[in-house]
Amino acid sequence: MVEIEDLTFSYPSGGFGLRVPSLTLKDGERLAIVGPSGSGKTTLLNLIAGILRPATGRIDVGGTDVTTLSDAERRRFRASRIGFVFQDFALLDYLPARQNILYPYRISPGLVLDAAARSRAEALATASGIGDKLDRHPSALSQGEQQRVAICRALVTQPKLVLSDEATGNLDPESKARILDLLFERAEAAGASVLAVTHDHELLPRFDRVLDFNEFREGAVA
Ligand code: ADP
Ligand code: MG
Repeated sequence: MVEIEDLTFSYPSGGFGLRVPSLTLKDGERLAIVGPSGSGKTTLLNLIAGILRPATGRIDVGGTDVTTLSDAERRRFRASRIGFVFQDFALLDYLPARQNILYPYRISPGLVLDAAARSRAEALATASGIGDKLDRHPSALSQGEQQRVAICRALVTQPKLVLSDEATGNLDPESKARILDLLFERAEAAGASVLAVTHDHELLPRFDRVLDFNEFREGAVA
């Protein structure tokens, strides 16, 4: 599902470098990424999602090398093919929760907002415990509720790749387990791979593989 080769990246301002000689995420695999704050975990997800562009290397996502796409193509690719739960949620406050969940359909010409998509949004919201809050705007939701809206938005298009950046961070232990259940259950139903950055060590046994991010610091021997 994801194949990275000889990837290097640094921010224009300098100071931080990432080097990933090789990383593979198999179809249907659940990979957890752990590592200290500032080690580049979010940067890697942004590179895979095509939000950032590497200096060198290849990032193949489901057969497409995202590094060769134009900015507009990468945006479309991301909206239609990847579910991304951002660390800061990235919800739009001018839209109610329901429209936030359905947002990928607004921005991706390839996706059709039909009755099935609408009922998937409702079902996801209900399963994650925010079914009665769909008319509220994000500012009227708790952190944990906003997080669930972000997770529903990442899953509603049934993407083959789900990237999750500390998606359970603001939740109580019971909600964490429930959200991960939902994420895994939907991913499995869609045959999707999951790449999740997490600080929740109690959740790690539920992943197929755990990758410690320290090894990708520039200069480290991988
Ligand atoms: P993590 O998600 O593992 O906490 P990040 O990928 O967010 O780490 O950040 C890795 C490093 O890159 C940090 O040192 C951070 O300060 C730096 N960084 C993140 N975003 C930017 C940016 N837009 N410009 C410059 N440096 C950045
Ligand atoms: Mg981060």
